[in-house]
Amino acid sequence: MIDDGEQGASRGIFFDSVSRYFNRAAGYSKVDTGLLRQVKTCNAVYRMRFPVRADDGSIAVVEAFRAEHSYHRLPTKGGIRFSEIVSLDETIALAALMTYKCAIVGVPFGGAKGGVILDSHSLSEGFRERVIRRYTAELIRKNFIGPDIDVPAPDYGTGEQEMGWIADTYKNLKMNEPHPYACVTGKPLGMQGIPGRTEATGLGVYYGIRACTEQPEEMKRLGLNPGVAGKRVIVQGLGNVGYHAAHYLQSQGGATIVGIIEREGALYAADGLDVDAVYRHRREGGTLEHFDGGEFSADGAAALERDCDILIPAALEDQITAENAPRIRARIIAEAANGPVDFDGEAILRERGILMIPDLFLNAGGVTVSYFEWLKNRAGVSFDRLLSRNEELTKTRLVETLESLTERRVPEPVRSQLVHGSREKDLVTTALEQTMMHSFEQIHRMWTSRDLPDLRTAAFLLAIERVAESYGQHGIFP
Ligand code: NAD
Repeated sequence: MIDDGEQGASRGIFFDSVSRYFNRAAGYSKVDTGLLRQVKTCNAVYRMRFPVRADDGSIAVVEAFRAEHSYHRLPTKGGIRFSEIVSLDETIALAALMTYKCAIVGVPFGGAKGGVILDSHSLSEGFRERVIRRYTAELIRKNFIGPDIDVPAPDYGTGEQEMGWIADTYKNLKMNEPHPYACVTGKPLGMQGIPGRTEATGLGVYYGIRACTEQPEEMKRLGLNPGVAGKRVIVQGLGNVGYHAAHYLQSQGGATIVGIIEREGALYAADGLDVDAVYRHRREGGTLEHFDGGEFSADGAAALERDCDILIPAALEDQITAENAPRIRARIIAEAANGPVDFDGEAILRERGILMIPDLFLNAGGVTVSYFEWLKNRAGVSFDRLLSRNEELTKTRLVETLESLTERRVPEPVRSQLVHGSREKDLVTTALEQTMMHSFEQIHRMWTSRDLPDLRTAAFLLAIERVAESYGQHGIFP
C-alpha cells in the first residue's frame, strides 16, 4: 500500500476509490516506493472561508477549496466545481485524477481542482458572480492562480460565464501580468477563449468510446458488433459533458440514445430520443417531464439499471457501487463523469464481464483543448493567424507550381478551396480526435501487453510511470 500521508479517518468513498485504484496500479510498477508516494500525494491545499453579500442583503459565509496535487509540471490545471456536496477530500481526489489525466493525454501540466460548497443551479447570476470574483481574489492572495502557477477551468456547476468573471477579476487585480487571460481556460470566445472548448469534453468522450468500440476482439468478447453505430446508449446527466457526448454519439456516430437521466427522473424510448430536442425541452421547462417523444419515470436510479449497450454516467461520482452493480445491465460503462464507479462496485462489474472505459482517459478532452487555449493566450496570437497564414502561403506556392508546369490556370473557386487554411476550430477538433485515439491505443496496448486486470489499471499505470519519469528527468528540488 502506498501511503500518501492522508491515511487515518475515512476520507469518503470517492477519495478512497481513487487511492485504491492508484495502489492497485502501483503494484504493477517498478517505480521506487518513495517516488510512488510523491506521485500519489497532494502537494498543497488552500481551504478558505469568505463573506459574500446575498441577494437579500444578508451576509453569506462561503466555504471553498483549491487543491494543487502535483508540481512535477507547472502550471497545475483543473476545473472549479460548484456543488453543495463539495468537500476537501473530494477536491483532492479530483485534483489527483487531473494529474493522471494530463499525463495520459500528454498535456504538460500538474493536476489541480477547485471546489465551492454551493449548489450553482439554485443561485442567482449576481450571487454566482460575486462568489466567483471573491474566490478568484482569494486565490490571487495566496498565489494559487496565474498563467504559470495554476490555471482553473469549468467543471460541474460552472461554465464559460464563470471563467470570464475569473479572467476579468485576475486582469484587473494583476495589472502587470503580460498575458492575464492565460490564468484560466474555458473562457467565452470574446475573452480569448478557443472555439470548441465548451463541447471538448463531451466530444472527447465520443472519440474515446468510438476508439474502444472499434476494437474487434473486445466487442466480440462482449457479444457486440464493432463501432458506435446502432449501439443503444443511456446517459446520466444532461449537462455540459453528458449533452455533448450524447449529441455527438447520435449525430456523428449513429448511436441510438434510448435513455436520458436527470435529477428529476428519466426519459426512455426504445427507438431513440432526439437528444437536441430533449436538451431544449429541459432548458426551457427545467425538467424532462412532459417531453413528447419518450416515456418519463421519476425513478432516475432505476433507469441506470435498464438494458443497454453503453451506459454513460456524466453527472457525479459514486453512482455505481456494490449496492447496484449486480443489477447493471449495460455491456460497457463509459465514465464521462469523474469517479462514477467506486472501487467495490468496480470489482463486481469486472467479475460480470462489463467493460469500463475509465474517467482518467475518457473525459480528458476538456483539459486537452484547454491546453491549446492556454498556449494561444500565452503566445498572444490565435492559431488561425499563426497556422492558416503559413498553410495558405505553402498551398499557394503549390498551386502556382502546378500552374506553371501545366501552363494552365486553376479556376478561381478550385484555387480558393485548395488554398484555404485550417480554421482554429478544425485544428482543435482534429488534435482532440488524434489525442483521444492515440491515448486509447496506448492504454489498450498497456492493458494487453502487461497482462493487467483492466483498462483503468492500465491508465493509472501509464500515468504513474509518466509522472515518475518526469520527476526523474527534472530531479527533486533539494
Ligand atoms: P454540469 O453541471 O454541466 O452538468 C451536470 C448535470 O448532471 C446537470 O445537468 C445536473 O442536473 C445533472 N445531475 C446531477 N445529479 C444528478 C443525478 N443524480 N442524476 C442525474 N443527473 C444529475 O457538469 P459537467 O461539467 O457536465 O460535469 C459532469 C461530470 O463531468 C463531473 O463529474 C465533472 O467533474 C466531469 N468533467 C467535466 C469536465 C468539463 O469540461 N466540464 C471535464 C472533465 C470531467
